[in-house]
Amino acid sequence: MIKIAIDGPGGAGKSTVAKALAARLGIVYVDTGALYRTVGYFVRSMDTDPKDAAAVEALLPKIRIELAYENGTQHVYLNGEDLGDRIRTPEMSMYASAVSAIPAVRAFLLETQREISQKNSVIMDGRDIGTVILPDADVKIFLTASDECRAKRRYDELIAKGIDAKYEDVLAELIARDHADSTRSIAPAVAAPDAVVFDNSWMTPDECTEKLYSLVMQTVGTKAK
Ligand code: C5P
Repeated sequence: MIKIAIDGPGGAGKSTVAKALAARLGIVYVDTGALYRTVGYFVRSMDTDPKDAAAVEALLPKIRIELAYENGTQHVYLNGEDLGDRIRTPEMSMYASAVSAIPAVRAFLLETQREISQKNSVIMDGRDIGTVILPDADVKIFLTASDECRAKRRYDELIAKGIDAKYEDVLAELIARDHADSTRSIAPAVAAPDAVVFDNSWMTPDECTEKLYSLVMQTVGTKAK
């Protein structure tokens, strides 16, 4: 089985590249950010402060999360309901980031992530995949890009989905979220010591996928066949 870890800050293009690589390699793509977003969504729907660790922890027994794959696309079900793009708003990004700093939330989501990676060859994207979830991954990539490039990509994505946004707000939110994610005490979003750090500021998604595909094939070429 093949395990590939892709970590990095928001808007670095992790999901686009990981999805394309998964399709090419014929393995499962797991978007772990969607799990934190789903917990954030539930916390928001219960009118709970996402920074109140005790209150959030008390809600966890009420949450059942399932992952399903339909035509290669990941769907996350919260208590039986597919939330679709409702977890993709800037508000849900901030809720996800706040709840992700709570140890009980990380422990709660660990099992789902371990289970899927034990049963399948996977490419997982997130913040702690190379450091915590798949410490023995065959390939670890830390994908990054300049703040402005990342914000522009995130802004374009939101506009394309019909979500109202201002570039300056998107940039400020991304910087604040990355700071919180990379400086938190539990599972901070940092590159694993054995990760390849890859800056794709000046690359198209196809160029980046091509480069990373070569890197993956160099490392796990025989296994991937
Ligand atoms: O990747 P995405 O932007 O969807 O992640 C949303 C938030 O979930 C991140 O800002 C981060 O706080 C959290 N997250 C995490 N660990 C992961 C994936 C996401 O803490 N493996």
